Amino acid sequence: MITIQHNQSLQSFNTFGIDEQAERFVTVHSIRDIQQVLLQDPSPTVIGGGSNFLLTQPLSGITIKNEIKGITIVEENENDSLVAVQSGENWHEFVTWAVNHELGGIENMALIPGTVGAAPIQNIGAYGRELKDVFVQLEALSLQTGKIETFSKADCEFGYRDSIFKRHAKGKYFITTVYLRLQSKPHRLYLDYGAIQQELTNNHITQPTIKDVYQTVIRIRESKLPSPHILGNAGSFFKNPVISTEAFHLLQSQYPQIPHYTVNNMAIKIPAAWLIDQCGWKGKQIGQAGCYQNQPLVLVNHGNAKGSEILHLAKAIQASVVEKFAIALEMEVNIW
Ligand code: FAD
Ligand code: NAP
Repeated sequence: MITIQHNQSLQSFNTFGIDEQAERFVTVHSIRDIQQVLLQDPSPTVIGGGSNFLLTQPLSGITIKNEIKGITIVEENENDSLVAVQSGENWHEFVTWAVNHELGGIENMALIPGTVGAAPIQNIGAYGRELKDVFVQLEALSLQTGKIETFSKADCEFGYRDSIFKRHAKGKYFITTVYLRLQSKPHRLYLDYGAIQQELTNNHITQPTIKDVYQTVIRIRESKLPSPHILGNAGSFFKNPVISTEAFHLLQSQYPQIPHYTVNNMAIKIPAAWLIDQCGWKGKQIGQAGCYQNQPLVLVNHGNAKGSEILHLAKAIQASVVEKFAIALEMEVNIW
């Protein structure tokens, strides 16, 4: 049985804290609930934790808030376990569950906000690990047919913060269940990224476990990123640009100190935060919209910003990065 609310404020349902309304709003707890919604609106808007979109207008039609819960170990052997996770589970709580069950592979992605169902949409990633590294398959309800379809890893066409669900399958499916293969002991650890190794050394941890990595990632993230409960934001607003090696060498001749990471022998990734900082945006504010002081890739809501104000700031940042570096920053956050 579903209950539809009218003119529901979405302020507490998006981590930017933007105060726009949903014309109609419903919380779903089962596949049957979604099928009931589809009888009333064949193209509803699906939301999870609201941590990766920016509202610039009210949402028309029905907005579905996903609350489908459950975690099941489907198969296990001495090497790994296949886990089926319902899409309304909170991602960080699921990572905590995995670490407590001694299942490895996702501890570097601790504290990413949002739901398990949204994780495949942009192939979430942090500290050198991405969802695709442990992903097996997912089930999704087609909003067109109301039937469940299975997507293999190849079907999802995962890329850097990208999948088929951000391209031609966008808005066509409700992801219901995600299947992940997690490692049993002895775990392989991934410590070469960002500040993980340094932070472990600082804490005199010489033989880390997955729990140590999990706690280290939480500590680093809490020290660098603004909590959405305190300062509205949606994490990184832009993707880190990947440019050709030729374009990079040209830039490096002008900016010898430019930070960079080799993707392959044709492509180099530049931290967008550095480009934004070089353009003088770090800590700047236009109206209630701001570029976060400790991490300029994160745009923040300093109070009662409208979505359009945040978008205006984002476009101004994009324009100055194009002007100074001839690099077009792509927005990672979904604009609605
Ligand atoms: P929502 O914002 O609710 O939705 C995002 C998109 O997914 C929308 O298009 C929505 O329609 C769609 N969607 C949601 N659920 C479903 C479903 N079940 N079926 C179909 N479509 C669906 N991201 C990273 O990759 N790495 C990080 O380290 C990271 N850190 C962050 C830190 C902070 C402080 C914040 C605020 C965000 C961060 N993010 C990060 C971004 C965000 O947390 C992820 O993109 C997350 O997966 C979004 O989940 P959500 O449930 O909040 O999705
Ligand atoms: P950081 O460690 O200060 O590093 C800055 C950037 O350099 C990162 O964006 C990362 O790219 C890249 N980088 C660092 N070490 C690298 C390596 N060994 N190889 C290749 N690239 C490397 O970054 P941070 O801002 O504190 O974020 C830490 C991690 O959390 C990153 O993976 C970041 O993506 C993730 N994060 C994501 C969001 C989001 O909303 N998407 C928000 C906060 C944090 P990548 O971004 O490509 O990893």
